[in-house]
Amino acid sequence: SSGALDPKNLKVKLVLLGDSGVGKSCIVLRFVRGQFDPSSKVTVGASFLSQTIALQDSTTVKFEIWDTAGQERYAALAPLYYRGAAIAVVVYDITNPDSFNKAQYWVKELQKHGSPDIVMALVGNKADLHEKREIQVQEGIDYAEKNGMFFIETSAKTADNINQLFEEIAKRLPRPST
Ligand code: GDP
Ligand code: MG
Repeated sequence: SSGALDPKNLKVKLVLLGDSGVGKSCIVLRFVRGQFDPSSKVTVGASFLSQTIALQDSTTVKFEIWDTAGQERYAALAPLYYRGAAIAVVVYDITNPDSFNKAQYWVKELQKHGSPDIVMALVGNKADLHEKREIQVQEGIDYAEKNGMFFIETSAKTADNINQLFEEIAKRLPRPST
């Protein structure tokens, strides 16, 4: 059996949002291909990849991942990507306060225009850059908690918490009833 309504084999649209340069594309490539390419290309518009994971209860979740470009000139296109998304992953760079502000902008945007039952995650990426940290873990935790989001810090470079991010999101998805 297959399809979005099969409770054992979920298929969900996931959109990544956040400032340009925070590591959205690297997170996706780490998750889907297990690779990190430090010279990866800037995303133009949006790109699409999919990856399936199995949960412990033998449910499978197929993520259809829309990786958006963070550039201002594409901001008007964002609703096309988050419309109908079951999951939004909002990413900032823990070394960049501007990117944390931009993440908060995206959260508000999603609260206004996303689907009401969207699962939202806040991700502080580049956690390997300890010595350049500007956003404390507790700031991420507090903001996420206030906004009913799942929170995690990741490193696409070292692979730290990348699989955990997607597993935790998958566990929080509303399940279709049989
Ligand atoms: P995007 O614009 O959000 O898609 O960002 P990219 O995925 O293109 O990454 C932007 C830059 O940050 C690239 O130079 C990456 O090599 C670097 N980068 C991405 N993730 C990490 C990370 O976890 N740690 C470190 N140190 N650098 C990262
Ligand atoms: Mg990108």
